Amino acid sequence: MIERARQILADVFGFESFRHPQEAVVETLINGRDALVVMPTGGGKSLCYQLPALVREGCGVVISPLIALMHDQVSALSQLGIRAGCLNSAMTLDELQQTEAALRNGQLDLLYVAPERLQQPRTRQLLSQCRVALFAIDEAHCVSQWGHDFRPEYMQLNELRELFPGVPRIALTATADARTRQEIIDRLALTDAAAFVCGFDRPNIRYRIGQKDRAREQLLRFIRDEHPQDVGVVYCLSRKRVEETAAWLCERGFNALPYHAGLDAKLRQHHQHRFLTEESIIMVATIAFGMGIDKPNVRFVAHLDLPRSIEAYYQETGRAGRDGLPANAWMVYGLQDVIFLRQMLEGSQAEAAQKQVERQKLEAMLGLCEITTCRRQALLSYFGENAHQPCGNCDTCLEPVPVWDGTEAARKALSAVYRSSQQYGVNYVIDILRGQSSDKTRQRGHEQLSVWGIGKDLDQQQWRSVFRQLVARGYLNVDPQGFGVLHLSDRCRPLLKGEETLELRRDLKVSSAAGKRTGG
Ligand code: ADP
Ligand code: ZN
Repeated sequence: MIERARQILADVFGFESFRHPQEAVVETLINGRDALVVMPTGGGKSLCYQLPALVREGCGVVISPLIALMHDQVSALSQLGIRAGCLNSAMTLDELQQTEAALRNGQLDLLYVAPERLQQPRTRQLLSQCRVALFAIDEAHCVSQWGHDFRPEYMQLNELRELFPGVPRIALTATADARTRQEIIDRLALTDAAAFVCGFDRPNIRYRIGQKDRAREQLLRFIRDEHPQDVGVVYCLSRKRVEETAAWLCERGFNALPYHAGLDAKLRQHHQHRFLTEESIIMVATIAFGMGIDKPNVRFVAHLDLPRSIEAYYQETGRAGRDGLPANAWMVYGLQDVIFLRQMLEGSQAEAAQKQVERQKLEAMLGLCEITTCRRQALLSYFGENAHQPCGNCDTCLEPVPVWDGTEAARKALSAVYRSSQQYGVNYVIDILRGQSSDKTRQRGHEQLSVWGIGKDLDQQQWRSVFRQLVARGYLNVDPQGFGVLHLSDRCRPLLKGEETLELRRDLKVSSAAGKRTGG
């Protein structure tokens, strides 16, 4: 069977060889086993389900939330001679019926379906009458309640296992940290799936994160100096800021368009179309813009506001440089971003447990902002890749930041976590370090610990900065299930044994940053 797959790879797709780990994924599905694939954008996920759909008997059903792109996908496949169709709410009754008939007659190799359509009894009945080769669940991170792409319709996809026993399922996504991967497995009932998590690195993207100081002017300088004629995306948090920034860039002679969920659907589509077809264009957008957008020559992605998580940051910056040529991921952030995101988070209607997860994701994002070592290493380590060298292609690699020797502070912090049995969150551990007496510290007997009050030289804020950096650099892990409970990781050992020293980024005092005004 795998020979057959290789043949199709060459004859139909025109590719000489598989990319890692396509072959193993294809084999898994051909053998009827489920798979979870996490592969960066541009890595070649589609082939992982298209090929086995062609090898296996019946039609491969692809569940995708990106209705706007289905038509393009179908015509691209048709050009290769693959019989593909789609079912979604944007089609006329006539078109739907034609596709359904083709499916019933066994004339389709691949069928793209929107998740909400799969919920309809009509669709289920249709599929139960046909031979289904496999189910591919694209953008599988949409099942994650903690993520910003959450789609309730994805929750029901776990039913596929019982409705279609024996039909292999493959879930695919470009962005999923360990927690999201587990969530995908749990919610889609993929307990027996083979997992393929491969390299997250995008070496051609240069990551830069700076302190915010009149953000728009900073953005303008960045675009004028480095990307005067290029294609780019500027992300803002609010619709209002999107509109203002787009207008402001237009006034300064740039071809900039706004995009957010509040715009009329027609206008939004028009702007998306212009972005995809024009050269030298800047899309100023909220996170509503981007999923599935495939424009290879996006030269920069700029963030005027802090994303809520590293996953979001990675996903958004990942839209730059899909052609493999150098691209910039540029961001400015400030205390206000942090305050704003915290307020939004705390003020939301979400349950306590969800808020806690979001809080941790935000902390990790902040950690990435504040580190003094290679940003790429930190980014990759967040996704579980630890073996990388400093990249030489991020701001911290290219320009060293002000630091202080945090070795002693870090040792104290780690010891305090350890001595309190790795059962508490950061605030409590800081109380121990600073000797802040409370009913809890008394009841638990923590005032007798050797680490009690050994950290009075730093204030709460400075300790938070120390802890944030320790988490970001992987010295401390945060319990995904619990309430931010800290654990030592293996990486601590050399530091605790005195074999390693640690430099920490010196947080800029907000007052001086706010008071600074560049002339002009
Ligand atoms: P993803 O869905 O992971 O973002 P795609 O499936 O769209 O990525 O593939 C990205 C690009 O890589 C496409 O242009 C595709 O044709 C190409 N590609 C995929 N697999 C191979 C391969 N084995 N050999 C050469 N090119 C490939
Ligand atoms: Zn680097």
